[in-house]
Amino acid sequence: MSTTNSKPSEGTCRFCGQPLRHIFVDLGMSPICNDMVKPSRLNEMEPFYPLRTYVCENCLLVQLQEYVAPDNIFSDYTYFSSYSDSWLQHAKRYCDMAMERFGLNAGSQVVEIASNDGYLLQNFVAAGVAVLGIEPASNVAEVAQQKGIPTRVKFFGLETARELAGEALQADLIVGNNVLAHVPALNDFVAGMKALLKPRGTITMEFPHLMRLMQENQFDTIYHEHFSYFSFITVEKIFAAHGLTLFDVEELPTHGGSLRIFARHAEDTTRRISDAANALLGREQEAGYTRLDTYAQFGEQVKETKRKLLEFLIRVKREGKTVVGYGAPGKGNTLLNYCGIKTDFIDYTVDRSPYKYGNYLPGSRIPVYHPDTIRETKPDYVLILPWNLKDEIMTQMAYVAEWGGQFVVPIPEVTVLLQSAVEA
Ligand SMILES: [Zn+2]
Repeated sequence: MSTTNSKPSEGTCRFCGQPLRHIFVDLGMSPICNDMVKPSRLNEMEPFYPLRTYVCENCLLVQLQEYVAPDNIFSDYTYFSSYSDSWLQHAKRYCDMAMERFGLNAGSQVVEIASNDGYLLQNFVAAGVAVLGIEPASNVAEVAQQKGIPTRVKFFGLETARELAGEALQADLIVGNNVLAHVPALNDFVAGMKALLKPRGTITMEFPHLMRLMQENQFDTIYHEHFSYFSFITVEKIFAAHGLTLFDVEELPTHGGSLRIFARHAEDTTRRISDAANALLGREQEAGYTRLDTYAQFGEQVKETKRKLLEFLIRVKREGKTVVGYGAPGKGNTLLNYCGIKTDFIDYTVDRSPYKYGNYLPGSRIPVYHPDTIRETKPDYVLILPWNLKDEIMTQMAYVAEWGGQFVVPIPEVTVLLQSAVEA
């Protein structure tokens, strides 16, 4: 057990209650990463909170303390799922799979937690399956309701599950994509799913896989909205504590490498635990994810990634090159704020979402413009902040090759992707 990065306890583990003493990685102080700065607020200050993650020495859950109340993070959320083509396709494929595998029909009930703008549930609606979305951000939920997707503006937990049970609403399928990691009251959330699920029902959840985060240096996926970072071993333990069994798992390429877990009631023994689930437990065990010392090296790896990115930016700026960003995702803000990158390195970034362009990135105050700006200013380098979508973005923006522009990704380490001189 390494004690070099151990500190006096700051709070307790959100799953098992053990005092947190071991820092996983400390990214310093950062503003809330989805809190875009409107032009009218440009001369005002903004709050910064610690972005310091711990690993629990007892259950090994990697986690961020609740420095910011969820109401402040999620009430006016600017992430609209429908602005990413590849994410929409991912949702469609999932719905087709779920309809067939779980035999859903007109008599079934699907509940999605954190249903965003209805990008996923609309597929079930089209297939005639009853749906309910639960979404805490009212501006996003409103868009879903306008599309005809029944949505309640709520945080999910045991109280909401009991409320629905009171209306005789239980789910054949509970879906949660990129929500489990965002839940501060983790035990209450999982207990709520247990209460909402029909006896033979299925839960599927997707979240970034901690093993991929660590192996591929994805420290920028750490931000205040992400309270927990799960290995399969840890999430299995958490579900088991609430009477839910993980009977299958898929490894997905989304968000840089995610898990899709399949859960059922522990009492529902009709479905055996798959080979894939057993194999992943074995792989994580072999890779050391049951030992505290495995988590101790990550902080240094992160510092080295920062040095390499800054080295690259300093070099190209000295050569007189122009660098702009593409995208304004949460992860981009973690990266830019941790590395101290402002308009001294990056002139501007662009985003397709009208909720983002015209504003400024939190902390770094880098302006966000419409993507057409790139064609007008012809930069030498385009730094892709949502690096997980780099293929989609490079296809959309292939025209940067016309003036010899090149794409760069910051993660797993800074890399120039396209020798566009060759392509042009
Ligand atoms: Zn713990």
